[in-house]
Amino acid sequence: ATPMALITGTGLSAKRGLLIRNAEAIQTMKDVKFVLMDKTGTITEGHPKVIEHNLDKETLKVIASIEKNSNHPLAKAISELTNNYIKIEKIEEIPGKGIKAFVNNTEYFVGKPQDYSNYSKILEKGYTVVEVKVNTKTHGFLAIVDPIRPDSLNAVKMLKNMGITPIMVTGDNEKTAEIVAKQVGIDKIYAQVKPQEKLDIIRKYQAKGGKVLMVGDGMNDAAALKGADVGIAIGTGTDLAIDNADIIITKEGISKIVDAIKISQLTFSVIK
Ligand code: ADP
Ligand code: MG
Repeated sequence: ATPMALITGTGLSAKRGLLIRNAEAIQTMKDVKFVLMDKTGTITEGHPKVIEHNLDKETLKVIASIEKNSNHPLAKAISELTNNYIKIEKIEEIPGKGIKAFVNNTEYFVGKPQDYSNYSKILEKGYTVVEVKVNTKTHGFLAIVDPIRPDSLNAVKMLKNMGITPIMVTGDNEKTAEIVAKQVGIDKIYAQVKPQEKLDIIRKYQAKGGKVLMVGDGMNDAAALKGADVGIAIGTGTDLAIDNADIIITKEGISKIVDAIKISQLTFSVIK
């Protein structure tokens, strides 16, 4: 690589809201054929709000206190349901699944339902369903809405115009994923994906030829960000995602990926 061109490329990008950790990534980016995107916090704003629930006040206080310990965007929405937090004894976050904790010797789980069949009405609205289990028995649910980032639609459109295929990979359920994908113009979706499977999908597209870019914000995206040819983290995301990325988006949303690819193409056509 030509250092001068790289410096110019990276210097330009700082102003554009891109923090480049690995200069080689800019070089790779001009050959990107597939952009895999996480949904929650990446395509969407990641500032979700609880819009519906069927829980009593006491349970709300407990689960809000549990979620206070998590960085997940959904956790933040749930932790806002009280300002009277209680002490949590034992806590375990399961990436891509939810969070488990003990309160007064009672086990609580807040996270992804095993069975979505009871929630079709809520899912049709594009909301995400989070289930609450008490001592492993289903106790209630919360419906959460997470608006799409204003630039997501345009970013997807521009990627397509550049001949790049945008693909959604999400831990969320099929229905919610479909509705969000449709709203931004993504045709290919992988839903209900476990963190390790995000990496498997990256490998699958790498095998097709062409470089694969992954963009994500969560703990569940870390392995995929590391395994992709270019890993891009959303700056407001979790530390684990940021630590595993080549590039960090520091301003606004995923349209910055389009900028980054254009910078790459420009920088390396200068070298030629
Ligand atoms: P995405 O891939 O869209 O960012 P995640 O893989 O982070 O989504 O999460 C997948 C699903 O797991 C969420 O839709 C939610 O149902 C559940 N989940 C994960 N972490 C939490 C948490 N801390 N609290 C509640 N639900 C969670
Ligand atoms: Mg996410």
